[in-house]
Amino acid sequence: MQEERHRMSGSVGLVPTMGALHEGHLTLCRRARSENQVAGASLFVNPTQFGPNEDFNAYPRNYKRDLDLFQQEGLDFVFMPNVEQMYPTGFDTYVQPGAIAERLEGASRPDHFKGVATVVAKLFLVTQPTRTYFGEKDAQQLRVIQQMVRDLGFDLQVVPVPTVREADGLAMSSRNAYLSPEQRAAAPVLHRALTRVREAYLAGERDGGYLRALLRGTIGAEPLADIDYVSVADSRTLKELERVEVPGLVSLAVRIGRTRLIDNITLE
Ligand code: AMP
Repeated sequence: MQEERHRMSGSVGLVPTMGALHEGHLTLCRRARSENQVAGASLFVNPTQFGPNEDFNAYPRNYKRDLDLFQQEGLDFVFMPNVEQMYPTGFDTYVQPGAIAERLEGASRPDHFKGVATVVAKLFLVTQPTRTYFGEKDAQQLRVIQQMVRDLGFDLQVVPVPTVREADGLAMSSRNAYLSPEQRAAAPVLHRALTRVREAYLAGERDGGYLRALLRGTIGAEPLADIDYVSVADSRTLKELERVEVPGLVSLAVRIGRTRLIDNITLE
């Protein structure tokens, strides 16, 4: 990949992915394609961002289909390393994000963002993108990457891309494939809860506690859904808000059966 990179000229757009592609990933690819002379993706299911009891082994892998889809989007390269290439025997250096990684996903998934930041730093060093594309669906991940780029001085632009949804509002995710038909029918409750909060906010409600209770109440009414966390936080610091007087990030993590789903919206 490094040799290939030396042969490239002009702007390079990179879309980091773990594969099992859906329309969300493909939207990132289209942006990368249209905004750069060279456009590519990485495809790597990164073991260091999964906890010991998480779904690393079960994570959906369909490399043939993914490569066909990347090709259909007109990408110039796909960087697809294996685990031994990214983490050779003796690997012992990590990128440890700070306070931005502690709450929300970081509180539920210890070391998750350390794994994300480490692999993304390596992907940036190897592919040296001009621009890199990240989905707002993973709002905290986006902030962790933006902070890392600032702090470590990566010479690139992080481009946020709005969340792509199914017709019923469910945010597209590779993990949606785990849902049974009954669970799939229950899953739009995440988006419904976020929509209710947005409506209350637009009607003038600013009380963080009330808005969090609205999230809990809406999710609680769905028997198949189990709340991991609900949050109405400062969109920049991710600290919980008493009152939404600054741009707010409304986010939640919910288990449906054994599948953990996340979603968010911004209030401003
Ligand atoms: P993943 O393969 O899940 O690691 O995701 C790769 C990239 O696609 C990340 O930047 C995600 O935020 C982004 N992404 C995943 N789902 C969506 C979606 N529904 N809409 C927009 N971007 C997404």
